[in-house]
Amino acid sequence: MSDINIPQHGKWDPVWFMSFCTEEELKRIKNPKNAKDILLRKRADIVADNVRYMRVFIKRRDLIPNYSFEKCFSNIHYEKVIRNLDFRDKESVKKITYGDIFENDVNGIAWIENGNRFISMNESLKYFLYFCGLAFISDTYKVPDYIRINSAKIATRIYYHNESIDFELDPRGIIPADIHRDIMCAINKELQFIAGHEIAHHLCNHLNENKVSKINILHGINQDFELPVFNIDQKQEFEADISSLRKPHYSKKEFRNVFEGSVRWFHALAFIEKIDEVLNPGKESRYQTHPSANQRLKRIIKEFDVPSNLNTENLHESINWASSLSEYISKDIELNYDNYDFYGSVYLDKPNTKWRGRELIDRKDY
Ligand SMILES: [Zn+2]
Repeated sequence: MSDINIPQHGKWDPVWFMSFCTEEELKRIKNPKNAKDILLRKRADIVADNVRYMRVFIKRRDLIPNYSFEKCFSNIHYEKVIRNLDFRDKESVKKITYGDIFENDVNGIAWIENGNRFISMNESLKYFLYFCGLAFISDTYKVPDYIRINSAKIATRIYYHNESIDFELDPRGIIPADIHRDIMCAINKELQFIAGHEIAHHLCNHLNENKVSKINILHGINQDFELPVFNIDQKQEFEADISSLRKPHYSKKEFRNVFEGSVRWFHALAFIEKIDEVLNPGKESRYQTHPSANQRLKRIIKEFDVPSNLNTENLHESINWASSLSEYISKDIELNYDNYDFYGSVYLDKPNTKWRGRELIDRKDY
């Protein structure tokens, strides 16, 4: 992208957006008329600023029949929560607009613009969770240790925004279909728990319009993106966790799934928190606005009985392995810092191997 085409806040030129938005979407983001349009414009500004994101959407536009930019952002994790709420809570949720957005943090945020309330999760979160899922996978799947370690490295690099978010163009390896399916299934449970947490902030009246701070949500390539984000205190974070499992009236089976999602999510967070303490001792990062992942998980386990239909044996094994992995990666970062610090792509294995496949060349193969 040439310097002339750098999108600037508040300025409009369709040339920045026409490669990945439809005609209809261009009209909507030019003059946002409602909260959904505002969200779409935020997403579009961020994608237009990052050529890697943009190339992913251009590929989707070429592959997906009836493509639209907006449809590429799934809302299913929010909808699964909302459909289980009682009538009053369902009515209340109509006051917020939900949808994911690219941002820095592997987390969710509640924000406000022009009097509209929004809740969003990081669109890159699912990639972080995917590589955590492969890294922490149970021994029963027989994934070699070095593949799981490399997957943990990719997850760590995603967390530090050094891994290019272009997995659809340049997959980092070949994952057997059964493993891919089970990881995706686990991610959906985690996303549902996190969406429930963000929705609970609204339902529990944690979102106070007098307590909003403008924060930098993304260090873009050409500019930084800021949003007015609601300030949440630590007590409210615990309450939102509990309410994520309590407010929706889940069946026994769905409760088990979302409970399992919370356990997996807090272990992925604990994994990265441990590494972050080594890498940035004493530095306050965004996750520290939340209580630690271990504190949050302990509170959940204290509040709810662990569902009897949960496969705790596999889960415990994955959790112990995740804890060893975070120690391993922490040491590896100290010894091989450069491997974590450059912007680009790392892979599960060397080219022309079972777990990697043929090497793809940038701009030639994708
Ligand atoms: Zn929260």
